[in-house]
Amino acid sequence: MPDLTAQIAENLAEMHGRITDAAARSGRNAKQIMLVGVTKYVGPTEVRALVAAGCTELGESRPQQLWEKAEALEDLHVRWHMIGHLQRNKVRRTVPLIEMIHSVDSVRLARAVDSAAGELSRRVPVLLEVNVSGESAKHGLEPDAVEPLLEELAECGNIEVRGLMCMAGLQSGLAGAGADFAKLRQLRDRLHENCPEGITLDELSMGMSGDFEAAIEEGATIVRVGTALFHGVLR
Ligand SMILES: *Cc1c(COP(=O)(O)O)cnc(C)c1O
Repeated sequence: MPDLTAQIAENLAEMHGRITDAAARSGRNAKQIMLVGVTKYVGPTEVRALVAAGCTELGESRPQQLWEKAEALEDLHVRWHMIGHLQRNKVRRTVPLIEMIHSVDSVRLARAVDSAAGELSRRVPVLLEVNVSGESAKHGLEPDAVEPLLEELAECGNIEVRGLMCMAGLQSGLAGAGADFAKLRQLRDRLHENCPEGITLDELSMGMSGDFEAAIEEGATIVRVGTALFHGVLR
């Protein structure tokens, strides 16, 4: 095996360079873009190398794997992001472990998170996942369903709605991804105009290994990258 630590540090440095370049191309500051390292393909050893290299915002798409990693890496100072589908019966175990949930896609889920956060006397930042591509296999709210939901979520005192999240459709390549990201940004811009009190929509969580540069050019404030960070160490 190549030196795993060195390889992952090199991958992370390259990723920061690409984020900086993409930000510069669209007249943005790379400091406004958070990199969430998605750890679902690797075990604790690789995650430790990533954290040692300086990536301390980590994401998992399956609750069970998030629980296991958070436990195995309890000694590290990292912040976990729940980025995938969250079932309501997994909320109470997940909320104490996470910094942010990117994938709220129903009022019932939001209320479950609100109640679990209340039990911990904390306010949990959440993003609303939107199905901008219209592909039926994707989770997320229909774009038109977001505005009515905001009114209901404004009443949940223990969650802070901070923005929107999406995944690009698989069908139409990089150009299609750019169009999906533009849709999410336009939806956010439209909703910004009369947001209920207590809700801010400053964050756009969009972009993965294959399309994060397009996402940054469309205004992503958070990119979620897995594969590219573990290049050369995935079997
Ligand atoms: C796996 C995953 C990512 C990262 O994908 P890569 O292509 O490996 O960078 C980002 N977001 C979500 C929701 C994921 O499930």
